[in-house]
Parts: sequence; C-alpha cells; structure tokens
Amino acid sequence: MQELTHYINGTHVKGQSGRFADVYNPATGEVQAKVPLANAEEMAFAVDIAADAQPGWAATNPQRRARVLMKFVDLLNRDMDKLAEALSREHGKTLPDAAGDVQRGLEVVEYCIGAPQMLKGEFTDSAGPGIDMYSMRQALGVTAGITPFNFPAMIPMWMFAPAIACGNAFILKPSERDPSVPLMLAELMEEAGLPKGILQVVNGDKEAVDAILHHPTIQSVGFVGSTPIAEYIYGTGCANGKRVQCFGGAKNHMIVMPDADLDQAADALIGAGYGAAGERCMAISVAVPVGDATADALIEKLVPRIEKLKVGPYTAGDDVDYGPVVTAAAKEKILGLVQAGVDQGAELVVDGRDFSLQGYEDGFFVGPHLFDKVTPDMDIYTQEIFGPVLSTVRAQNYEEALKLAMDHEYGNGTAIFTRDGDTARDFANRINIGMVGINVPIPVPLAYHTFGGWKKSAFGDLNQHGPDAFKFYTRTKTITSRWPSGIREGGEFNFKPMD
Ligand code: NAD
Repeated sequence: MQELTHYINGTHVKGQSGRFADVYNPATGEVQAKVPLANAEEMAFAVDIAADAQPGWAATNPQRRARVLMKFVDLLNRDMDKLAEALSREHGKTLPDAAGDVQRGLEVVEYCIGAPQMLKGEFTDSAGPGIDMYSMRQALGVTAGITPFNFPAMIPMWMFAPAIACGNAFILKPSERDPSVPLMLAELMEEAGLPKGILQVVNGDKEAVDAILHHPTIQSVGFVGSTPIAEYIYGTGCANGKRVQCFGGAKNHMIVMPDADLDQAADALIGAGYGAAGERCMAISVAVPVGDATADALIEKLVPRIEKLKVGPYTAGDDVDYGPVVTAAAKEKILGLVQAGVDQGAELVVDGRDFSLQGYEDGFFVGPHLFDKVTPDMDIYTQEIFGPVLSTVRAQNYEEALKLAMDHEYGNGTAIFTRDGDTARDFANRINIGMVGINVPIPVPLAYHTFGGWKKSAFGDLNQHGPDAFKFYTRTKTITSRWPSGIREGGEFNFKPMD
C-alpha cells in the first residue's frame, strides 16, 4: 500500500501523527494509498519553515518571482498527461476533464505572471509642499489554503499562484480524498525554481484545518468546499484576526424561456448537469422551464440524451461522458436524496438507481437521474446533491422563474436560455447570483476576471483570481514623505489638510 507524505521544506516528509485516511480509486472501489493526517505540531513545523523562508522571497524582485511561474507553466504542459492520469485515478473524472482541471489552474498561473504590473502601487507627487505620498502592496507573510476534492489541481493553483506571486509563503491543506496531484504541483514549483519552504503541502483533516485557524503566524486563509465548513472556517478565522475568504456550495438554476432553442438548451443541460458526475460547484442542478409547453418539450428532448450517456472509468476511452463519484459515502448520500425526492412526490423521469457496470461493481458509479415536477420545499431542491441528478422545477412565467433562483439560499452560478435580449438583460441586472450565463450553461469566468458567488456560496469581500487575488494576498501601506527639510518650526498639533 502506497503511503503518501507531506511536502515540507522541499522534501517529502512522512506523517508523524499516526493517523491516516484511505485514498480510493473510485472506479474500482479499492484503497490505493494512505494519506497522513497532520496534527498541530506537524502544521507548526511547516509554518516555522515558511516564516523563515518568506522574507527572502518577498525581497526577491517581482519579475524574478514571476519567472518561476513562467517555468512552472512549461512544466505543467510537459507533465499534463501524468497529472491528468493521477487526478483521474483518485477523483474519478474522465481524462479530458482532468486535463481541463489542470488547464484552468494553469490559466490563473499565466495571469499571475503579470504580478509586477499588479503590484506597482500608487504615487502622488507633491501631495503637499515637498511632500510625496505613495502606496505599496506588501505580502502578508505566511498564508494558507484549504481545498476541496472536486478540483484538486485547479483550486490549489487559484490560491497558491497569486499568493506566491505576491511574495507570500503558502501552506496548502488539500482534500484528503485526492492529495497526489497537489503534492506533484509542489514538486513542480520547486523544479521551476521556487525556494524551499515557500510552497508546502500539509495533508490532513479537521485537526490540520484547526491548526491553521489557530496558528498566530498564519495571516490569511482561503477555503473552497461545502457551505457549513465555509461558515465555520470564516467565523473561526476572522475571530482569530486572519484575513479569510471562503467559497461554499451551490444550487445553480438554468432558466429556459419559451423562445429558447430547446435543442441547444437540452445539450447544455446534459453537459452542465451530468459532466464530472455533477461534482462541480458550477454544475446546473435545477432546470427551470417557463410554461408547461416548454417543460414538456424540454423533458422530451432531455430523456433520449440522458439515456445515451456513457458512464465508465477514465481508462475506458475518450467517449466516456462521466465517471464514478468520489467515495462510497458520496454515492450513498446521492442515492438517499434521490429516494427522498421520490418519497416527497417528485416525478423520477429517468431512474439511475439500478445502474451497475460490469467488471466495476465495487466502483462508486451513479447512473444519471432526471426529476420533473420538483417543488421548492423538497430536499432535492433545498440541498446540494453534488451528483448526476437534474431536477426540473416548472415555472409559469419569467417572474416566477427569476424569484425561484433569487429565493434559493445559494448564489454561485445561474444561466438563462432565451433568444430575447431584453429578457436576458433584465435577468443579468436583477439576479442576486455571482456568475451569470446567457445561453452559456457554466459561466466560469476566465483567469483575468474574478470568480465568486453570492449569498451562502461565498463569505468574505474578495473573489478568487483576477485583480481581487492581488488585493487578497497583499496589504496596502501608504507612506507620506517629506525630504529633506524635516520639521523646522516645531511640532504641529492640529490635524489639518495638506496646503
Ligand atoms: P468539504 O467541505 O467536505 O471539504 C473541503 C475541505 O475542508 C477539505 O480540505 C476537507 O479536508 C476540509 N474539511 C472537511 N470537513 C471539515 C471540518 N469539519 N472542519 C474543517 N475542515 C474540514 O468539501 P468537498 O466535499 O471536498 O467539496 C465539495 C464542496 O465544495 C461542494 O459543496 C461544492 O459546491 C464546493 N465547491 C465550491 C466551489 C466554489 O468556488 N464555490 C468550488 C468547488 C467546490
């Protein structure tokens, strides 16, 4: 059995706590490795190393820091297939989807190569007689990030690339379910020229997270995962004086107007609802057709498409649409919610409950499900299912559809499919959700824009990547300077504007 490690001070370090978690191959259901779960002492050891290394890194000029990221991009491209394979083996997603996971992280690394421009600061010449005023952005020091299982390459890179470009040291606590790719990324950053101790990976569970939240040296915490944990980390981190940003769960609605191209809408729903087995925070999990005629026609188009979906292991070739879910517990939770949907009166139009794959009976595969006539009081509507289950909630008109999405507690992403520009514009203006697609089902912003939801999908003031990342990972310091006269007339006691 492979025993994974932490990555501390540029070397693989065995776990000391004696506690481990199983890492599965979700396609076969086998345990393929054990990952160590760090205790507070192991975390403190990494923090001390980071604190020693960080001032030298912050003093390295920003262009040289950016060159490390440039080289890292080359190495990611060199090792793309290897990274994708390791990612699929632990996560279960298809190989092209795993390469996409790496690619969307790589794009943020590319954006961060522009750090020198982002860190330039501001300057006012002659703010007063002989007085200049300037603001600079300084690194925070030791920063940390806690990431989810569903994007084990992309989300760590969304955090560590800007943190490190800004001159911070970064401690990554990845998901214990798929920790191999984060370890590989840390090795590649060092191969790219990053000094030891600037990017470290400390594996673990709640104990390691709590060690981060309570360590006085750690200045900021980034988190992506489920909403209850996001709320806990935001509350605890802020109470301990840290800068915190937390991104949580989702229930993304796609509104289908009567004038929409229904073939296009159905194709979009299939990809956005079932891709990656629905384990995406930007997956569409609720379809909202407007009017019964639209709903009937949409369901008619969806059913044959769903029945054609090919579910299988990542090793079965490029035509597999989606793979297993991540653990047996995830599968059980999804099937439990499907049962609740049936019990609470929703119409199960496509029933994937008996799905089984020959030769992979112990894998965590879940067949595709489609519900119709879901109502807002049902568990399958209120809760995030995070599986290949699409719920249809019928709305009688546009206002009802809009209200439905607005009243849901989550506000990560949403989409509207329509041919009417006026409706699309009204939707984009009024909806209380962070990322909006117009005839685009998964509106994930590119690296140079920012990513973040509203309501219970995000906690904190700043989004991920884009210009917000440079604000999150730096502090502003403003200097007022007068040379060379100094104060000749004695002290001044009144607070007064510049002359
Ligand atoms: P999770 O909340 O179970 O775990 C996320 C991280 O928190 C992991 O590193 C885990 O070790 C740690 N953790 C788990 N339980 C903890 C506890 N009790 N105390 C402290 N730390 C704990 O989430 P997950 O299952 O890995 O990921 C799926 C979730 O992430 C979904 O809800 C999904 O919507 C969300 N997600 C959100 C975004 C976004 O940008 N909004 C992106 C991706 C995933």
